Amino acid sequence: MPTALITGANRGIGLELTRAYAAEGYKVHACCRTPSQANELRDVEGDVTIHALEVTDHGAVDALATEIKEPIDVLIANAGVYGPGSEAQTFGSLDYGALRDTLETNLLGTVKTCEAFLPQVAQSGEKKMAAITSKMGSIADASGGSVIYRTSKAALNMAMAVAAPEAKRQGVAVAVLHPGWVQTDMGGPNGNIDAKTSAAGLKERIAGLKPADKAPFLAYDGQEIPW
Ligand code: NDP
Repeated sequence: MPTALITGANRGIGLELTRAYAAEGYKVHACCRTPSQANELRDVEGDVTIHALEVTDHGAVDALATEIKEPIDVLIANAGVYGPGSEAQTFGSLDYGALRDTLETNLLGTVKTCEAFLPQVAQSGEKKMAAITSKMGSIADASGGSVIYRTSKAALNMAMAVAAPEAKRQGVAVAVLHPGWVQTDMGGPNGNIDAKTSAAGLKERIAGLKPADKAPFLAYDGQEIPW
């Protein structure tokens, strides 16, 4: 039975990714900060094991990587935050404390998750690793505002781009994936697509990944995004 590990699995895109992989017969390690409150996650049908994981706690990430000894076919580092409201994300009134906090989750937490579980992914059959980023982290898309969020995702993109050739040596495929503008707590009700559509697209993109020196930066629908 193939195995997937997903962070931020209790709501939004992570929850739908968990549903999608569980429905296809994967054993899913679904990670979330507060399992006692993860009611929707607990109701997902299939082979789902819920783990407590705050991705900014690197000791906890390492401990979980030690606890889960089996190979992980698909790792999806999905947990992320948008950060503060627009004024605090505007050049001229930037909130540096919020910038640090956002980097802790979107950059350090995501990269740490990928690094800690690389050995298990390398031992698996599928050997696929995806970080959920955003088109807003594309330097080519730097159209103003959201400085904190954009910076955190651009930095994540660079870290994963550098990780790709390293991972390739172990046969592991790495990608950064944009989920679309999705109707979740983060994306709001006006998003273009629902989380189920996003998760289905992301799953298809992940299935098509191959180990490569240059990581692909793809949207859920397969569109290539400029770095
Ligand atoms: P939500 O806000 O709906 O969910 C975010 C998830 O991440 C929650 O499960 C949350 O847990 C978890 N999380 C946040 N911080 C941490 C942390 N420090 N440790 C562990 N878990 C954490 O967001 P989406 O589902 O919309 O977003 C998922 C990913 O997609 C994010 O990386 C986001 O940046 C990206 N994205 C989303 C877009 C959209 O339109 N929605 C567009 C582009 C990218 P908790 O419930 O405990 O807070």
